[in-house]
Amino acid sequence: MQQATTKKTGYFGEYGGQFVPETLIPALEALTQAYHELEQDQEFHAELDQALQHFVGRATPLSYAPRLSEHYGLKIYLKREDLCHTGAHKINNAIGQALLAKKMGKTKIIAETGAGQHGVATATACAKYGLECIVYMGEEDVKRQRLNVERMQLMGAEVRPVTSGTRTLKDATSEAIRHWVTHVEECFYIIGSVVGPHPYPLMTRNFHRVIGLETRAQLFEMEGRTPDALVACVGGGSNAAGFFHPFIDDKDVEMFGVEAAGHGIESKKTAATLSKGKPGVLHGSLSYLLQDDHGQVDLAHSISAGLDYPGVGPEHSYWKDQGRVQYLAATDQEAMRALETCAALEGIIPALETAHAFAWLDKQQTIQDGRLVVINCSGRGDKDMEMITSYRTASRGL
Ligand SMILES: *Cc1c(COP(=O)(O)O)cnc(C)c1O
Repeated sequence: MQQATTKKTGYFGEYGGQFVPETLIPALEALTQAYHELEQDQEFHAELDQALQHFVGRATPLSYAPRLSEHYGLKIYLKREDLCHTGAHKINNAIGQALLAKKMGKTKIIAETGAGQHGVATATACAKYGLECIVYMGEEDVKRQRLNVERMQLMGAEVRPVTSGTRTLKDATSEAIRHWVTHVEECFYIIGSVVGPHPYPLMTRNFHRVIGLETRAQLFEMEGRTPDALVACVGGGSNAAGFFHPFIDDKDVEMFGVEAAGHGIESKKTAATLSKGKPGVLHGSLSYLLQDDHGQVDLAHSISAGLDYPGVGPEHSYWKDQGRVQYLAATDQEAMRALETCAALEGIIPALETAHAFAWLDKQQTIQDGRLVVINCSGRGDKDMEMITSYRTASRGL
């Protein structure tokens, strides 16, 4: 398979690009250049590695899951991003971009957040590096995610509620972009997934490649080979991209990205962008997008706030069209069932986002043959206990 050449063009096949207001182009060019220079800079990498090791807690373990393996007739390993500081993979990228901002001499960070997970990761990185931090968050989400708002404020971030549109992530992102346009000199915009204009999808994927690189080394040590399959959940697609990318040229490694089907792919309440969407432009890049017949962006729905986004990273669109990665979708109910199985059999409560990856296991219909499978355990479920409890209470009531 041909690797996409993104460095010069900012495209993965036909996807990606820089669909932004003219005023942002110089900022994106400066960012691209600074990023490529620092990518070659040993000192930058030494500092980043130091932070990943001593602050984030890397390398994260690759845990063999004996009881899940027996249950499904597979040999299952879990890459434990849930054990990262702040409880999910997002910190890998937040630390990387914050350090990049600092090196570029920027003093103000802006970010957008939906459920608050990327906001918390960004506020954490900003506190560590002494950077000012403003987080845009839909007013609806501010109400729903009080605890994460409190966390961000505790770490010195300013949370700005957004009252336009549906008052959720999509509107918070638009507002963050507006702020960036008017304060482009001193501001650095930390984007939380492999989305947005070039170079963000490339840069964010690269900051998460550590997930796949560690998995590769750890699996070679334990099993002496590459896996038969990799499985990850896909919202914007950052944990999956970082996990898959170091294996992309290994032709015999199958890869599965699991999106959120919500109430079902055929229902209106879904977030399965790659299964149901069509190419379109959102937040600065061309990629698959949930939209109606008139090209209006559809509202996404998922039980997990982190997958509740109508877009997806352009590299995933490319991998889908190339057939390199297979994308499927799990419903709210399927994710919840998989979460319960994992918790009861392994003593690990995954995040609701992550539970969609575990739902892949239930979709394997044939008697399994001990295939070696690694699931990226992108985050832990503590943050979701309220949702999990009310879902379980409701289903018991039926
Ligand atoms: C945010 C989040 C996701 C979804 O984001 P991606 O960019 O698709 O990785 C998945 N899992 C967890 C735990 C998250 O917090």
